[in-house]
Amino acid sequence: MSYVTDVLDLLQKKNSGEKEFLQAATEVLESLSPVIEKNPRFQKESLLERIIEPERQIVFRVPWVDRNGKIQVNRGFRVQFNSAIGPYKGGLRLHPSVNLGIIKFLGFEQIFKNALTTLPIGGGKGGSDFDPKGKTDEEVMAFCQSFMTELYRHIGQFVDVPAGDIGTGAREVGYMYGQYKRITGNYEGVLTGKGLTWGGSLVRTESTGYGLVYIVAELLRHKSDSLEGKIVTVSGSGNVAIYATQKAQQLGAKVVTVSDSTGWIYDKDGIDVALLKQIKEVERARLTEYAARRGSAVYHEGRTDGGVWGVKCDIALPCATQNELHEADAKALVQNGVKVVAEGANMPSTPEAVACLQGSKVDFLPGKAANAGGVATSALEMSQNSARLSWTFEEVDARLNSIMVNIYDQASSAAKEYGVEGDYVAGANIAGFLKVATAMIAHGAI
Ligand code: NDP
Repeated sequence: MSYVTDVLDLLQKKNSGEKEFLQAATEVLESLSPVIEKNPRFQKESLLERIIEPERQIVFRVPWVDRNGKIQVNRGFRVQFNSAIGPYKGGLRLHPSVNLGIIKFLGFEQIFKNALTTLPIGGGKGGSDFDPKGKTDEEVMAFCQSFMTELYRHIGQFVDVPAGDIGTGAREVGYMYGQYKRITGNYEGVLTGKGLTWGGSLVRTESTGYGLVYIVAELLRHKSDSLEGKIVTVSGSGNVAIYATQKAQQLGAKVVTVSDSTGWIYDKDGIDVALLKQIKEVERARLTEYAARRGSAVYHEGRTDGGVWGVKCDIALPCATQNELHEADAKALVQNGVKVVAEGANMPSTPEAVACLQGSKVDFLPGKAANAGGVATSALEMSQNSARLSWTFEEVDARLNSIMVNIYDQASSAAKEYGVEGDYVAGANIAGFLKVATAMIAHGAI
């Protein structure tokens, strides 16, 4: 048995039932085989056993009082996975599906993603099974204050700096930040994604979606191509999907789909971003509203007609949630001539879908490379907070663009160096791993 197989065995034994974590960790470990073979020291230092084990996992009760005066109880999580290269950094997900396995998968991915940004941030993730949908602002505030009343003791600007994720937008970050400041009396950059008048960075809202499109543009540039005239399909209609759509259209592409958990839109004239933002960011309404107000759009319930992946396109950008693009979707995309699939969401493609796309010579950019623009800009927000400065939109945007170009180069060069040219999954995993592993070795057996 090889070292990697031994650790995969151990992984299964110690984390049974945590299927998303097992999926993410298995993908990374399998792709590291060429590096492990070349560097026997990693085995001697038990690097893989250490990297799959979170440094700390915090699970806590979150009681809050609803509009009827009844006490509700949710479960809160923060997994501080790896601090070898900087304070833990990663978002807070608020969604009924959240459990420890999902937070561990997200925290694990974050280690490598954060390393790829070249900025000094470690990997962590948190959240709760609380569902902000259908709650009043007062209920969301009550939850956020209770959540932070426990979380505050585990975080800090030099310790752990959470951010937004699914269900945690500007409103939730505001309530959590207010409660942190109230309890600790500190005005510090402890959360990112803050409002612009209280420490937030320009471009943070747009950064994950913009970064996704910048890395796709860089990939195309290496093939002497561009986004001009390309047909793009996007899933999701949240933060990542909206700003990916906006940037892709600014660079000359036409985005023809978006979706939410109830259905999807095909808009033959290209998505109207202003209307989408009004419906999703302001009114918090369903996509049926988009179709009702736009003549060129058709609404499809659920995943009818194959969902967004059944639509012919050059580039597909999954931007909703994990495991939303299955093998059958990948086959449909290939059949329709897709050239590039880049993940805006975390692990939206199943392993079978990834194998199908890569096997069909589609350029596939995994989330840990393609959606790293969000956390990179969060780290830029931390820098501005520490320096008590605010950079202009153009300055942050230029830094974001060069970080995404650099991530493309790292993933592409590592893949080439280890004999898997064009495999950006392996390339991103290897480049991120090497940076973290080197720091872990330097720090000794901790
Ligand atoms: P949002 O909450 O803003 O939007 C999520 C979108 O995905 C919504 O349209 C939502 O639809 C849809 N969605 C969520 N869960 C499901 C589901 N189970 N089935 C179908 N659709 C679903 O989240 P973000 O845009 O911030 O995040 C999207 C993805 O990108 C996540 O994987 C996140 O981890 C990842 N990501 C986000 C970053 C960021 O900066 N925000 C950074 C890096 C990665 P509905 O409204 O109906 O629930």
